[in-house]
Amino acid sequence: MSAARSTGIVLRIGELFLKGQNRYMFEQHLMNDVRRALKAFPRVVAERLHGRIWVASPGGGAIADIDRLVERLACVFGVATVSPVLEARPALDSLTAAALEIVRDQDVSRPTRFAVATNRADKRFPMKSPDISRAIAEACLEANSNLAVDLRAPELKVGVEIGPERSFVFAASREGAGGLPSGSGGRVVLLLSGGIDSPVAGYLVARRGALLSPVYFHSAPHTSEAAREKVIDLARVLAKYTGPIDVTVVPFTAVQEALRMKAPGRFLVVLYRRMMMRIATAIAERRRARGIVTGESLGQVASQTLDNIAAIEAVTAMPVLRPLIGADKVETIRLARKIGTYDISIRPYDDCCALFVPAHPETHARIVDVEAIEADFDVAGMVEAAVLAAETVHVDEGVESPFSS
Ligand code: ATP
Ligand code: MG
Repeated sequence: MSAARSTGIVLRIGELFLKGQNRYMFEQHLMNDVRRALKAFPRVVAERLHGRIWVASPGGGAIADIDRLVERLACVFGVATVSPVLEARPALDSLTAAALEIVRDQDVSRPTRFAVATNRADKRFPMKSPDISRAIAEACLEANSNLAVDLRAPELKVGVEIGPERSFVFAASREGAGGLPSGSGGRVVLLLSGGIDSPVAGYLVARRGALLSPVYFHSAPHTSEAAREKVIDLARVLAKYTGPIDVTVVPFTAVQEALRMKAPGRFLVVLYRRMMMRIATAIAERRRARGIVTGESLGQVASQTLDNIAAIEAVTAMPVLRPLIGADKVETIRLARKIGTYDISIRPYDDCCALFVPAHPETHARIVDVEAIEADFDVAGMVEAAVLAAETVHVDEGVESPFSS
């Protein structure tokens, strides 16, 4: 896809232009995210460029490891497209030479529909865009007799951009992650299990600019150390998109065992979930998070009926965001594969909410009934104990360092 010898990468920005006065703040977040993505690529730097971002080696010259770099930059939220480009002087001869080099790099060994499109951001350039396109196209047609101009449906489209700071030519663009830069939308707690859904739900909210504070409820020894590792690995994938993440691991066994002693089995899932919601709310307050995200999808399992969702949500005053509420499993799986969480999620799975639960749990829990059961418990004390016993694990793309909080 990329030119064999790219001397720059251009990132086009998504919907940031919509943001009026906040635009500066959004761009600041975006530049931080781009620079973070470039940490693993010490030989390139990023700069702003007439409403785009330019990535290149400080001394100019071909960029090493270009395909991996393009892939990495495409993961930055707020980036609409990524193009490897060949820089040229803002002069017709230099732009034409770059276009010819790019065409030479493409496979045009059979008849190919072709077009040149020019964007003249720098109006000082003496020719108009259509004239520039035509002149460059003619040179390309002369160089390769397999090319035939087709402006409507070109197979090979050569883009030319003439800007006040830099000018360049490119043949391909890779779609970026889109969305809004990390951190531009505040912080949320993500209820992160080892399943397929919750990492995808977290990704979707993060793509709208939210920072994630994942909370995982662990039921050792009923759920294995491998289940915990899995959640940490999922958070590490999310950290690639959002920057470093602190995962809160909450020991949940005591809560579950206490509830099991006195509560009817068919209510256990809803009771567990209400406790999770309360604990998550307490952690959200500590982390200054403004909402709670879950991977719930309507009707997928017994706990995800509207009645049970209502009974679970009733214990928190925070907005509960469920980005997958209307998603089919196949769609969620497709997205999980795309963002890189799927292979981790399908590792053998211990689900703590299945613990001690009968085959036919209540699907229409009434709030009065669960409240009556909870009246026998010191709910606030259980929440406090769980929050105190929680452990924080700091994850970054590729690294993990545990510390107590
Ligand atoms: P997932 O694939 O995300 O586990 P699921 O389809 O298996 O979802 P449930 O297991 O019913 O559905 O869980 C619904 C949601 O509750 C999850 O998406 C997640 O947000 C939250 N959740 C469930 N178990 C845990 C847990 N052990 N720790 C944290 N959150 C959890
Ligand atoms: Mg699950």
